[in-house]
Amino acid sequence: PRPHPTLRVRPLTCTETRRGDQQVVHSLGDGAVHVSAARHDATFGFSAVFDAGASQEAVFEGSGMRQLVELAMDGFSCTVFAFGQTGSGKTYTLMGPLGQSDTQPASPALLGLMQRSFTCLLEQSRSRASDLALSASYLEIYNEQVRDLLSPGPPCALPLRWSKSRGFYVENQLSVEFESLEAIVSLLLQGSQRRRTSAHALNRHSSRSHALLTIHVRSRAVSAIPLLGRAGGLRAQRGGANSPTVASACPSKQGTLCFVDLAGSERVKETGSSGELSVEANSINRSLLALGHCISLLAKPRGKRTHIPYRDSKLTRLLARSLGGSGITLMVACISPSSRCLSETLSTLHYASRARRVTTRP
Ligand code: ADP
Ligand code: MG
Repeated sequence: PRPHPTLRVRPLTCTETRRGDQQVVHSLGDGAVHVSAARHDATFGFSAVFDAGASQEAVFEGSGMRQLVELAMDGFSCTVFAFGQTGSGKTYTLMGPLGQSDTQPASPALLGLMQRSFTCLLEQSRSRASDLALSASYLEIYNEQVRDLLSPGPPCALPLRWSKSRGFYVENQLSVEFESLEAIVSLLLQGSQRRRTSAHALNRHSSRSHALLTIHVRSRAVSAIPLLGRAGGLRAQRGGANSPTVASACPSKQGTLCFVDLAGSERVKETGSSGELSVEANSINRSLLALGHCISLLAKPRGKRTHIPYRDSKLTRLLARSLGGSGITLMVACISPSSRCLSETLSTLHYASRARRVTTRP
């Protein structure tokens, strides 16, 4: 199957409306979207286009997200990634407005793809005959360093390794088991909070880092596994290279569902960025370029394909499995309809159309 490039156009914000920004993006129906401005006139095709009026539920149901959840339960590596410039609606699409307010829980209608997927996953897992174990890990890549967003304490960099059996993996990443919606939503909140807290210290780094939340789904076929360290319904486990994991004890199906909130793709002005800012900008550019590069190589016909340089960035290493051989990827390109964002919007649309041609063999 091909990845499903899905486009979401957010509504104009109050600020954009107030200052009289023109709306330059128009949905034509049937997956077509038209961009028209003074010197630009282009149409792009997607599997699905969601415009300003689309609800969070419509995006969940219409993007193929529900099928992706089911595939993960069947043992596939599934990834959904949101990309686009800062402020284009990536976090909103994935998590709803929870990213912004600490105090009030988001209204159920505004919950994003993540919470909806968790609900679907838990409902399905209860209705299926086989017993499924669910666990989550949450990482961010900031300045080419992988950090654990679930580990307590100050963020520290974790090594990214490769092994024949596992492919690329993060050593010592925390993986926390959960059995309820409350538990996984609270892990999501904790992790996002950690990402944001350090964002205040390190100028707006939340849009300067890639965040990856992975749900591991495995069949609990073997009953002899000791349940260690049970605490409040959560079991935490560190997966090192040699640590005996339940997965290695039991050869049954193991699927993953990974949600990737990519750092803002906006071009960083050559002038004016210095020091820390330019280091950040370089890492983001490097990893998004590496991702784009892998995607365009993967888009070539199988026979003409050369070596795919997954090793060029941490991001592409972590996404190697889902992009390349055996994964299924849902991409959600996010754009603003405002004339002021035109050049970034066009670059997101081009990026997304390249990715459209990638095929995988799960
Ligand atoms: P990003 O993560 O791409 O930087 P955000 O998700 O934080 O962008 O969105 C930027 C702003 O636009 C936020 O205030 C968010 O609430 C708002 N927004 C984004 N998408 C939508 C939407 N579909 N409907 C309403 N508001 C939205
Ligand atoms: Mg964001």
